[in-house]
Amino acid sequence: MSERADVRVNDPRGPRTVEAEEPAISRFDPLLRSLLTFGLVEADGEAGQWRLTARVQRRLQALGAPPPPADKLIYFGHRCSSCGEHAPTRMRGGRFVCDACGTTPVEPLAPRREPRPA
Ligand SMILES: [Zn+2]
Repeated sequence: MSERADVRVNDPRGPRTVEAEEPAISRFDPLLRSLLTFGLVEADGEAGQWRLTARVQRRLQALGAPPPPADKLIYFGHRCSSCGEHAPTRMRGGRFVCDACGTTPVEPLAPRREPRPA
């Protein structure tokens, strides 16, 4: 438990000690009420404690796992930025590209110019 002194120079009552944690935890009251309302926590009768339900713990484990690499995710509802087709796409180099275009080597739009001899 932490404490902090709340000192005001012109306060006639002098310095006073306030609990730093109480205002902070009360900010989570809406969240905590939601946990109760939606049955996401359960009371442990013997210990008189609350704990997350098993399904919440499973979901938190899934959410806490690292996300798959961007090129492994498949996106629906995007046009391929290469051929323009509506198809499942993957993110490649910041663009949505269908698998057909992603496996075909892309030719550069402008031919490369050799530097002019000086
Ligand atoms: Zn394509």
